[in-house]
Amino acid sequence: MYQTAGVSLEEALIEESIMHYDVSRRDFLKLCGGTAAMLGLSQAWIPQIASALEQAAKRPPVIWLSFQSCSGCFESLAKADYPDVATIVLDIISLNYQEVIMAAAGTQSEKNLDDTVAAGGYITIVEGAIATGIPEAMMVGGKTSEEIVGEVTANGAATIAVGTCAAYGGVQAMNPNPTGAKGVSDVISTPVINIPGCPSNPDTMVSTITYYLLYKEAPKLDSKGRPKFAFSQKVHDNCDRRAHFDSGEYVEEFGGEEEAKNYCLYKMGCKGPETHSPCPLTLWNSKQNWCIGSGNGCIGCMEPDFWDEFAGFYDTLPNVPVPGFIGVKTSTDYIGSTLVTATMTGIGIHAIATAAKGRFKENDDISEGSDD
Ligand code: SF4
Ligand code: SF4
Repeated sequence: MYQTAGVSLEEALIEESIMHYDVSRRDFLKLCGGTAAMLGLSQAWIPQIASALEQAAKRPPVIWLSFQSCSGCFESLAKADYPDVATIVLDIISLNYQEVIMAAAGTQSEKNLDDTVAAGGYITIVEGAIATGIPEAMMVGGKTSEEIVGEVTANGAATIAVGTCAAYGGVQAMNPNPTGAKGVSDVISTPVINIPGCPSNPDTMVSTITYYLLYKEAPKLDSKGRPKFAFSQKVHDNCDRRAHFDSGEYVEEFGGEEEAKNYCLYKMGCKGPETHSPCPLTLWNSKQNWCIGSGNGCIGCMEPDFWDEFAGFYDTLPNVPVPGFIGVKTSTDYIGSTLVTATMTGIGIHAIATAAKGRFKENDDISEGSDD
């Protein structure tokens, strides 16, 4: 470790950053530590993250475009863990255009946008779907959403689509999709980083931006354009009710004794087994809780077309991956009864897997929704 005047270089970098942003050391270290954890980096990276955030204070500017959406994703970012942290993030990324909070209005706001685009080197963050079927359904300053996103992203350094609407069309694209809503990557030819969610998670947004500032490039993405560091695992993989799933302990009805025991919500429609998301790790609302923690199953809001694919939200998924049965997908009812039978008759685990494969081989090609 480097030393200077009795203080390590790492400590000096952190202290300098804290002074720069006028925030508490505790909050700043939480931001840097949380970002390191999300990116899969050791805590030894905290000084570099602090340094990258400070250096980024003068660049790059950010343009936040809002289209067909509820503005929930910006609300989500603005209400990140600590107000001070949100302030840091907004300061760091030099938010030059954001329709919900910017003080400028009318021609002045459009000038801010035009000047930033002309200067180049900015990050474009898009919230909301692009209306392609009825372009007039989403216009700002006399331009359609498709025109604006095309013009703005063309001269930018990176494009991030936050929320399922900007990533894949979201609720606007739900069948019959009256406005022809599409995700950003469907209407522009340059690369897009998707951070889906309804809303998108503030930790994932901050970590993705920080990754870009650290490495000057996009993180590795999965087949649906999502950062692998955050979306490579399913809700089901890290759920704190997973032990109950593995033990065949399910909530059978809301209000029942199984619910009071926090049993698995699979039979109550939980889509966690098919949803790629870090929610069990990041949590929500200042890390107080999350959907399953509050007693409701995951509705799969970070997967494309979840409004159609996962409706109804309380219907049991017909098939789920079962631990120990590599390549096999089957129902919990079948596995439960098979395990009981196997225990009674002394059939080995390999025989169970073979039996399950034989019965459910027609389901083997069910998509898991990612390339993990
Ligand atoms: S089915 Fe849902 S509640 Fe049950 S373990 Fe999986 S993610 Fe958790
Ligand atoms: S737990 Fe599921 S429904 Fe809830 S925010 Fe995460 S991905 Fe969306």
